[in-house]
Parts: sequence; structure tokens; C-alpha cells
Amino acid sequence: MEILFLGTCAAEGWPGIFCECEYCKKARKLKGKNIRTRSSILIDKKYKVDFPPDTYLHVLKYGINLAEVEHLFITHSHRDHFSPTELIFRSKPFAHMKEGRVLNIYGSKTICEIISDLILKKTNYNTLIKLHQVKVFNEFKAGEMVVFPILADHKTEIEDEECFNFIFNYKNKFILFGCDTGWYPEETWQYLKNFKFDIIIMDCTNGKLPYEKGHLGIEGVFKVKKKLMEENLLKENFKFIVTHFSHNGGLLYSELQEIFRKEKIEVAYDGKIVKI
Ligand SMILES: [Zn+2]
Ligand SMILES: [Zn+2]
Ligand SMILES: [Zn+2]
Repeated sequence: MEILFLGTCAAEGWPGIFCECEYCKKARKLKGKNIRTRSSILIDKKYKVDFPPDTYLHVLKYGINLAEVEHLFITHSHRDHFSPTELIFRSKPFAHMKEGRVLNIYGSKTICEIISDLILKKTNYNTLIKLHQVKVFNEFKAGEMVVFPILADHKTEIEDEECFNFIFNYKNKFILFGCDTGWYPEETWQYLKNFKFDIIIMDCTNGKLPYEKGHLGIEGVFKVKKKLMEENLLKENFKFIVTHFSHNGGLLYSELQEIFRKEKIEVAYDGKIVKI
């Protein structure tokens, strides 16, 4: 299996689209792994998590054929994760795809309602999208994957929206995708006890800031790893990767790497590929 990190940033990108802070200035100067676009991952070209506003840039940068993506999992409606208007361009005359190119989208009631109102209820867009409303702690099948949506510690401005993280069981591996989240609620910790993970991908938005509500930072990530180890939820050769960084966290790629190296945690960057 191959996991491609298409983007690894929090909401406004890094450098922030309008930001003049010290860390955005440094990123503009140093470039490379310090330039971060909005977060998404692609697994084996067919499975994608989130649909950020930088999706078109990702298509160009990595030479992706988005028509080949069959399963799209949406974590929540924050703009950096969900840019649904672009989905309109999956219809004719904007897109001419091979026969039978259906895109299955899995999301909460909120996500399904937004896509439905914007696209599916309009008769002029035939996007060949199949919507699947899913619920926390209710597993479902997506192609060769079994997927378990779990409850994150994260809120949007939409009342009652359930923000998901996901567990993917694919090719005999278990992946915990923990972005965006703060410290998990107790019911999620209880649920995680049913698994043993090969790969953990975890939110590190806050960097060196101390908060762990809504998002994690370095201290929060260390605590999550410690708890997963104490509860014996990690396989022997596990990989632990942090992503979704904000300039407000105050640490550039090399500084993050220095901090996380001693804990054997990898720091994601745009274009990082993980093969297992
Ligand atoms: Zn986010
Ligand atoms: Zn900035
Ligand atoms: Zn969010």
C-alpha cells in the first residue's frame, strides 16, 4: 500500500494566504518542506481522505488522475477539508471520464446534506457521485477497505455536526487517521481498544502551543502515543506520523523533525510517501 500526503497544513496554508508572521516569512524564504498546502491523503490512487481547496493544485503537482479515485472520505465541513463546489466539475461538459467512473463519498449527515443541496438536487449536474451517510462507531465497507468512523474532539460552526476521524482496515493493515482532533473523548478511547495499529497519522496543528482541545500540539501527540503504547494498541513495527501543521505552532520542518526524532515520530510534508 502507498499513502501519499497531498497536503499537510491547517486551514490557511503555510505560508498563510495573507499572513506576514515570522514563520510564514521563513517558509517563503526556505521553501521546500516548509511550504504546506491544505491536508489530504491519497491511498493507492483509489482512496482519498478530504477534499481541500488545494485539490486542483494537488492534481497538477502530483500528476493525479482524480477520475480514478473511487472512494472519498470526508472528516468534517471545515473549509480546509471540504471544498464541495469543485465537485461540480465532475459533470459534463467539465469532465469527460471513462464509462462507469462512480465516486463514492462517505460523510456525516451534515456533509451529505451540503453535497445534496449543492449538487445532487440540481438536475443540471450529473457528477456520478454516490453519497453514503455514515455514523460514528458504525463500520462500513468501501471497496477493499473496512472503515470505522470515530468521534474526534473537534467542532465546526454547524450545530450537531459530527466530526470524524477514521480507522481504515486495508490489505491486512490498520491505519488510524486522526486529523483534525484534540484529545479523544473517552468513548473513542474505549473504541480504539478493539484495534492494533500499523500506522497512526495524527493532528499536530498547535506545534509548541500547549492546547489540546480541538487540535493537538507536540505535548498532546506525545501523550496520545504514550497512551496507545500503554494500552498495547500499536503493532511492533508501527509508524507514527504527524501532520496538519499551523504557522501559529511556531516550528519549521527541521525544528519539528528534531523534536519528534527522539520519539521515532515522522513529520509529514507535502509529497511524503509511505509504503507498507
Ligand atoms: Zn483542518
Ligand atoms: Zn503566518
Ligand atoms: Zn477542522
